[in-house]
Amino acid sequence: MKPNLLDLDAERLVGFFADIGEKPFRAKQLLHWMHQFGEADFSKMSDLAKPLREKLGASAVIEAPQVVSDATAADGTRKWLIDVGNRNAVETVFIPEANRGTLCVSSQAGCALDCKFCSTGKQGFNRNLSTAEIIGQLWIANRALARTAGGTTAQHAAKAPAAASRGERVVSNVVMMGMGEPLANFDNVVAAMNLMLDDDAYGLSRRRVTLSTSGIVPAIDRLRDECPVALAVSLHAPNDALRDMLVPINRKYPLEQLLAACRRYLDKAPRDFVTFEYVMLEGVNDGAEQARQLIALVREVPCKFNLIPFNAFTNSGFKRSSREAIRRFAETLISAGLVVTTRKTRGDDIDAACGQLAGRVEDRTRRTRRIVEIQSC
Ligand code: SAH
Ligand code: SF4
Repeated sequence: MKPNLLDLDAERLVGFFADIGEKPFRAKQLLHWMHQFGEADFSKMSDLAKPLREKLGASAVIEAPQVVSDATAADGTRKWLIDVGNRNAVETVFIPEANRGTLCVSSQAGCALDCKFCSTGKQGFNRNLSTAEIIGQLWIANRALARTAGGTTAQHAAKAPAAASRGERVVSNVVMMGMGEPLANFDNVVAAMNLMLDDDAYGLSRRRVTLSTSGIVPAIDRLRDECPVALAVSLHAPNDALRDMLVPINRKYPLEQLLAACRRYLDKAPRDFVTFEYVMLEGVNDGAEQARQLIALVREVPCKFNLIPFNAFTNSGFKRSSREAIRRFAETLISAGLVVTTRKTRGDDIDAACGQLAGRVEDRTRRTRRIVEIQSC
């Protein structure tokens, strides 16, 4: 089978060119064509000599995943359903705001971690996405958004540096907060993030790429060493008893270990804080005593809190905390000196809000086996 060049970050692309007897600078040219011009056709790569274009055509492919559907919500949030084969699909969501455009990217078809309030977790796990399928989501979004804005991708890319300096780039931020646990698909996610950060590809700063994890502690340390981007941690509970229930991976890596990993991460993090995500579940984790426990818990970790109003889905068994309960909870944290934001729910009319991403996944593995595999990673 021919390699898919969308699977390769700069280092691997240099390796590919070495294998076919070509110089390393070809990797840069290919990165520009694929990621900055959105070009998948070797024959259109005009600064490559014809024999090289033919050689590439014979030895490799450039294949982004296929879009199954494309929907835009009343608030401008746009969601693509992306085919990842074997009757599986994942979701990618673009959230436009006044000063930035954020793309929420999926890392797995389904998720094995089984958090009790998450619809992705409810549907089980099918497989890890490849690097091409992860970076392909940014590729697809950039092309589609450029088309919507008028003009070809190439024209758009040519305008991008000027637009970027005015803060107008379409996708300015990426959050690994779609379907799946990114740290359970470490190598493919890191290769995709390398491309997001690479000036020859998407050129995003480390501060503008955020990885959200439910807390796989050894992988947080690896991320710090190999690709330190902004870190968000899904905390959701102020003590182990409750977190064991809501976020089962906590039984393997309890809070004390998780918070120590967050402190270690900050040595190399591009931002000087960790973001703690906290889904607001009525009567479960939103009380005054829980807010007080949370304040004590994070005392030694420079952090910001992002409260996420729970997004309901069929048979979830949870309710969203009331607006008043969320306000009170936030005030308690703020009066202890913490920085707190409450996430606006975006795109819920097209099921694009956090935790509503279900895609389409065939759960092929038995849940007990999955948990064992995750715990040993
Ligand atoms: N697996 C990673 C990233 C994907 S989930 C993680 O768990 O961090 C992105 C965020 O959405 C996480 O904070 C997750 O806990 C939250 N989330 C999951 N289900 C939700 C729901 N139904 N309502 C609101 N937020 C949810
Ligand atoms: Fe997986 Fe994150 Fe959902 Fe938990 S919240 S089941 S880790 S996607």
